[in-house]
Amino acid sequence: MSQELAEKIALVTGASRGIGKACATALAQRGATIVLNYVSNQDAAKVAKTELEAFGAKVLIVQGDVSIEDEARALVAAAENEFGQVDILVNNAGVNRDKTVQRLTGDAWREVIDTNLSSCFYTTNAVLDGMRERSFGRIIQISSIIGQMGNIGQSNYAASKAGMIAFTKSTAKEVARFGITVNAVCPGFVETDMVAALPDEIKQSLLSNIPLGRFGTAEEVGETVAFLCGPNGGWYTGSQLTMNGGQYM
Ligand code: NAP
Repeated sequence: MSQELAEKIALVTGASRGIGKACATALAQRGATIVLNYVSNQDAAKVAKTELEAFGAKVLIVQGDVSIEDEARALVAAAENEFGQVDILVNNAGVNRDKTVQRLTGDAWREVIDTNLSSCFYTTNAVLDGMRERSFGRIIQISSIIGQMGNIGQSNYAASKAGMIAFTKSTAKEVARFGITVNAVCPGFVETDMVAALPDEIKQSLLSNIPLGRFGTAEEVGETVAFLCGPNGGWYTGSQLTMNGGQYM
C-alpha cells in the first residue's frame, strides 16, 4: 500500500458512512491519519474507525454537528489538539430535505444550507491559519451534480451545492499563493444511504438518464479525493470535478 500521505492529518466530516467513509478509507490507505467526524451514528463511526485502523491508520473519532459554528470549529480544534495540525480537509457532511419550493419550510431551507454550505466556511476558516503557516493544504468540498444542473424538489440542496462550488472558487483564488488548493468534487448519483432512501421508480428513472447505465460508488469518489490530495493532484485548484456517468456534461 502507498504511503504517499504519511505524516498528513486529514479531517473528514460525515465520515461514519457513505462517501465520507470512502474518502477517509482512500486517504488512510495512503498513510494519512484520520479525524473522523459523525453527528449521531456512533456505532457506524466506531465500525469505520476499526476498518481504517486495519490499514494501519491512526484514527480519532469526533462527534459534532457541522451546521453549528462552534461544533464545526471544535472539530478542527480537536484534530489540532490531538495531532498538531490539519493538512487535508474534506467537507463531506451533508443532508437533503426535499420538497418543491412551494412546500419547502424555512427550517428545511436553513437546515440544508447550514449543514452543507455554512459548515464549509466554518471548518475552512478554522484550518487556514495552520495551513498558511505550513505552506500546505488540501481542501475539498463534496458538492453534487445537483449544484450544477438543479433538480425538482431540491432547491435548498441545489443552492447549497452550487454555493459550495462558488465558495471553492473564491477560496481557491485567495489561498493559492500559500500552497493551499481548494477543489469541489461533483458526483452524480452514488450508491449510499442517501440514494437507497429513494423510491424504486425514481431510481429506475434516474438510471435511464445515466449514459453509463449505473450509479457511482462511494469508493470512486474517495479515490478522486485521494488523487487530489496526492502528489499528482497539486495543479488542480478551483476545479469542479464532474463524475456522474455522463448524466450531466
Ligand atoms: P449519507 O450516506 O447520508 O452519510 C451522511 C454522512 O454525513 C454521515 O456520516 C452523517 O453522520 C453525516 N452528517 C449528516 N449531518 C451531519 C451534521 N450536521 N454534522 C456532521 N455530520 C453529519 O450521505 P452520502 O450519500 O455519503 O453523502 C455524503 C456527501 O456527498 C453529502 O454532502 C452529499 O450531499 C454528497 N453527495 C451525495 C451523493 C449521493 O448520490 N449519495 C451525490 C452527490 C453528492 P451520521 O452517520 O452520524 O448520521
